[in-house]
Amino acid sequence: MPLKSCSEWQRFAASLTMRDQLFIDGVFVPAADGASFAKANPATGEVLGHVAMGNAADIDRAVCVARAAFEDRRWSGKSMAERRIILLRLAELIERHTAELAAMESLDMGKPVEEAATIDIPGAAAVWRYYAEALDKIAEEVAPVGPGNLALVRRVPLGVVGAIVPWNFPFDMAAWKCAPALAAGNCVVLKPSERSPFSALRLAELAREAGLPDGVLNVVTGFGHQAGKALALHQDVDCLAFTGSTRTGRALMEYSGQSNLKQVWLELGGKSPNLVFADAKDLDEAARMAAFGIFFNAGQVCSANARLLVERRIQAEFVERLAAIAATMQPGDPLDPTSRMGALVDHAHLDHVMRFVEAAPPSARLVTGGARVPLHPRGAFMQPTIFDNVDPGSSLARDEIFGPVLSIIPFDTEEDAIRLANDSVYGLAASVWTADLDRALRVSDSLRVGTVSVNTVDALSPQTPFGGMGQSGFGRDLSLHALDKFTALKTVWIKYTT
Ligand code: NAD
Repeated sequence: MPLKSCSEWQRFAASLTMRDQLFIDGVFVPAADGASFAKANPATGEVLGHVAMGNAADIDRAVCVARAAFEDRRWSGKSMAERRIILLRLAELIERHTAELAAMESLDMGKPVEEAATIDIPGAAAVWRYYAEALDKIAEEVAPVGPGNLALVRRVPLGVVGAIVPWNFPFDMAAWKCAPALAAGNCVVLKPSERSPFSALRLAELAREAGLPDGVLNVVTGFGHQAGKALALHQDVDCLAFTGSTRTGRALMEYSGQSNLKQVWLELGGKSPNLVFADAKDLDEAARMAAFGIFFNAGQVCSANARLLVERRIQAEFVERLAAIAATMQPGDPLDPTSRMGALVDHAHLDHVMRFVEAAPPSARLVTGGARVPLHPRGAFMQPTIFDNVDPGSSLARDEIFGPVLSIIPFDTEEDAIRLANDSVYGLAASVWTADLDRALRVSDSLRVGTVSVNTVDALSPQTPFGGMGQSGFGRDLSLHALDKFTALKTVWIKYTT
């Protein structure tokens, strides 16, 4: 029965069992040294569980198990039809458990349960289904090498993939890494964020129920500087697939260099610009989507449209529309299905976001927000916040805040807009609003980013590649291109008598 009211979701959430141990070789086990950490709900401060704090010994165990599973081909040796059926079954199980997984995400990191139930969980199921369907449709190649020679270009799995993911879309990020890695025939050790460990553990359990052999997908919970670092330094991991901050991305490349030169693929931060031209067809829609682009998931989105570049002659009117929309997006109980903004992931992160607000230069005009919201005595809530006339050189305009804070910068000409948009170390995504097709294409051509959304924000689907340029990282998640990260090309050259 679909859950409709806040009290129904609360009752349902209270009935959930949160798995809190490592998942290695198909079973839940405590950390080798028995250590655990308390994980709280950021909306209430209530402790949800004591989660196993994996360290280097646990990572080593999980990697050994994954290596053994890869070597005996219990997964890659199955027929493609069998693998497809198992991954499709997992997608079905995820859909069947949507309410449970959505409530888990909401409790764990404070996101509105309605968004988790309608966006995150179905999105993850779609990704699993996409790679299940893709795995037997990628043909290998025969290279043209002349008479008496047959050169096969095979695509082979890499072996053991280490996946390290962040907390803002825990279940989705796990799907973005694990689904293509498994579809390609690898075995995986997944390290979820210490700030959102629960849904990854449930994923592993559901994958086992779907028929994934033991040892093929292992989950080690714990902290970045312990479990994450140990995975990145491990000598027997072939590939690291990472989503997270640029700072951690830098460290991972060093760890690879210090260990076995494992491949490292990085999906990192951003400070995405949203360019609104005065000739946009529907400025109301542009304002609604600009608000969604920064306040969705409380701004904790790598591709959040955190810089609004608006043509000066419509600036005042556009800012007014935005402020009116922001007023309707005040935070509420994440388990209330009418809430459009929930809590931030924890108090440390709220403090981090508030520091940017408090350090805003006096020249930036605070249009709305800028304060914590005492919805619950121990809750980490914050108002949607908009600053106008932000100096493009200021930290407010340049740094990734990763919270519900929008910086508005006016421009006068198209050249100006492009220059401002590209004036960033990041290059993840951008949005452009204009009714002029020539301008849309011209501007898209000039933006140095991985995705340009025209007359929408944050366009995304399993079919299209997602990833960045510059310090937003390299390599692509989603689409068939993601399979490149998890496979190696192997040439098999056969000589024969003509
Ligand atoms: P983070 O870098 O702090 O942590 C990400 C993961 O890395 C966590 O699992 C963490 O435990 C682990 N980690 C931390 N330090 C480590 C270390 N030294 N060695 C190994 N692992 C380590 O990032 P976060 O705060 O969890 O997530 C927010 C960041 O993620 C933002 O910068 C955001 O832009 C980025 N992000 C990017 C994308 C994308 O697709 N480009 C998507 C979502 C989030």
